[in-house]
Amino acid sequence: MKYIVEHMETMPMSEWVTLEYKKMLQDVGKENLLICSLPNETKTTDIAEELIQLGLQWTTLQLDEIHTKFPSFTNIKDKKMCLLDPRGDSELSCEDINQFEVCILGGILGSHPPRDRTNELKDKYPGLLVGKRLGALQMSTDTACRCAHYILDKQIPFDEIKFIDYPEIRFSKREAVEMPFRYILDDVSGKPILPDGMLKLMKKDSQQSIEDLF
Ligand code: SAM
Repeated sequence: MKYIVEHMETMPMSEWVTLEYKKMLQDVGKENLLICSLPNETKTTDIAEELIQLGLQWTTLQLDEIHTKFPSFTNIKDKKMCLLDPRGDSELSCEDINQFEVCILGGILGSHPPRDRTNELKDKYPGLLVGKRLGALQMSTDTACRCAHYILDKQIPFDEIKFIDYPEIRFSKREAVEMPFRYILDDVSGKPILPDGMLKLMKKDSQQSIEDLF
């Protein structure tokens, strides 16, 4: 299965986005991930050095043009692309591996309450993307990618994946944040799976928002 992220956040990529894309690269492999729709003026130097080192494939081409440069990611007109969408018509299932070759994700940082920006993709490519849900709760982009990877590539049904909803991430006795997302649980540690470096970044961001109050 191939995974395409339609980048919908600002450039240069924030640290959050960089960590999420890095985790996706580690999960599905560099040959199976493509970040598309970056602004036309984007240069390699605009992308975090560690993503380039890990072999991140990226393009300024839009979803309906990428087959011209990346034929293995299929032509959108072949209708082999499914859009991972919290408001999709049906749940993604293991059998969908027979129908689709590419999963499309919105490269969107989650908001609370969710703003349904994924919907912009349905409007942008009318009639060309089939929406599939991974349950109704919002996941981070890397979690949604991992979840689809489990279902399609590892053939683990959605019902058998262990999740944790809205976990409280505690940094110390007095400092904690609640993350308004669903995460996959790590079987071994019993903790939510997060990109490497994300805890540190969450702590830095939560301290920053406290400082901004003063
Ligand atoms: N509230 C956001 C919005 O504006 O649509 C959700 C964005 S979510 C952080 C980033 C991407 O992960 C979505 O565009 C979608 O592709 C995928 N995603 C997250 N949760 C999902 C779910 N429950 N089902 C299907 N896809 C999901």
